[in-house]
Amino acid sequence: MNRELRIYNSLSGEKEIFTPLHEHNVGMYVCGPTVYSNVHLGNVRTFMSFDFIYRALNYLGYKVRYVRNITDAGHLTDDGDVDNDRFVKQSRLEKLEPMEIVQKYTVDFHKVLDTFNLLPPTIEPTATGHILEQIELTQKLLDKGFAYVSNGSVYFDVLEYNSRGLNYGELSKRNIEELFANTRDLDGQNEKKNPQDFALWKAASPAHIMRWNSPWGEGFPGWHLECTAMSTKYLGERFDIHGGGMDLKFPHHECEVAQGKACNGVAPVNYWLHANMLTMNAQRMSKSTGNYILPMELVSGNNDFFEKPFHPSIVRFNFMQAHYRSVLDISNEAMVASEKGFSRLMEALSVLSTHVSVDEHSTFDVNQWKDKCMEALTDDFNSPILIAHLFEAVNFIFRMREGKESLTTADLGNLKSLMNGFVYEVLGLQNIEQSNNDKLDETLQVLIDLRTQAKKAKNFELSDQIRDRLLEKGIQLKDGREGTTYTLS
Ligand code: AMP
Ligand code: ZN
Repeated sequence: MNRELRIYNSLSGEKEIFTPLHEHNVGMYVCGPTVYSNVHLGNVRTFMSFDFIYRALNYLGYKVRYVRNITDAGHLTDDGDVDNDRFVKQSRLEKLEPMEIVQKYTVDFHKVLDTFNLLPPTIEPTATGHILEQIELTQKLLDKGFAYVSNGSVYFDVLEYNSRGLNYGELSKRNIEELFANTRDLDGQNEKKNPQDFALWKAASPAHIMRWNSPWGEGFPGWHLECTAMSTKYLGERFDIHGGGMDLKFPHHECEVAQGKACNGVAPVNYWLHANMLTMNAQRMSKSTGNYILPMELVSGNNDFFEKPFHPSIVRFNFMQAHYRSVLDISNEAMVASEKGFSRLMEALSVLSTHVSVDEHSTFDVNQWKDKCMEALTDDFNSPILIAHLFEAVNFIFRMREGKESLTTADLGNLKSLMNGFVYEVLGLQNIEQSNNDKLDETLQVLIDLRTQAKKAKNFELSDQIRDRLLEKGIQLKDGREGTTYTLS
């Protein structure tokens, strides 16, 4: 770690030199999905941005504790209305238990992220698994006078918070007077003292099925509180990095700052990172407007927007070509261009893996090139600049293949391991040929299993048919003591 890492901090609005609280260690919390429906491609972009940041931190030598939660309770479509609980609504729609909804979409979320080669976080806590912690935090805020009870619900008192010299609005740069002026009229008969007050705990109406006991009656926790409860539990009252999509900055993250400061007297987060949005047709991708595509629809080609299917690694390459703080518009043309770029990159890596050096001199300064790549990586995780540098090397590699450039054996080895590191480890791209081979292997294992079952059932006609038809395709099955294996011709 000989290079300073600079990170754009939403709190200061500036790039700052990153200094972790504990040397060589990083605590990072990223708001996870609300698992009441399938994640769309926009959601994937945000999680991928933080996957890249996590990978980059690892590559730079930090030991990262990466916490990303699952929101499986308490995220209302409208903070004021209990009937708008997303899980309860969806469970009525699908005629399933709320926890069946949670399970179904958590499984989908993991499958999608795995498809795009996102690494799992080191801890993945759920809101429902931390109800006690949320009740304790609510009690603490009541004891300190930052919250009040109203009709069995508990609200955070924003005016009280500000009256103690604290500043609700410091992260999102909103002015509390303006916030009040804009919303006062809408909030006549509310049980809150002020419209900006937010729920820490909500009383459950009789029809509300997701409910837990609390000192204030049966209810469920507020969305903002769950992230404070889980980040505090696993990363401490103060930690290094908190991330999420740009749209979470207000009110969600603003509320987290207020809860943390009110509870513990310290700012909970040193560096706030916000990932920018994915757009399609120049409009933000979102379920509610219908302007969205599901990740698997893009990968399978089963959609009306793209002319062909795209491998997950090409989607990933397309996302990595934009900086995480820039808006990215996804389009057919951009995906086709990414596909071309990606295959050039893969071709260069394959040249590197087989090239043998017979040269005494190098015509490429690998160390200088590495410095430029590291500079991009440490300049607020600038993936598009990093990729531009990778393509400098790609052009060089093709000229080297033609004998127009040279590298010594040592430099060749160095370039190879750096390219592999940046492409596979840091950018998280995958070799399509390799992943197609893995798919073929998995598919053949399925056929071998079916054949074994057919043999057991004495259905020799079917088992022979499987063997013979595979042979027609050049795949020979061999039965041995350890089971069946295959060879490809
Ligand atoms: P949600 O499940 O609604 O809480 O969203 C999960 C994550 O996806 C949040 O961090 C959002 O900020 C993010 N997100 C939502 N829409 C988009 C989009 N169009 N582009 C990028 N990220 C998004
Ligand atoms: Zn959160």
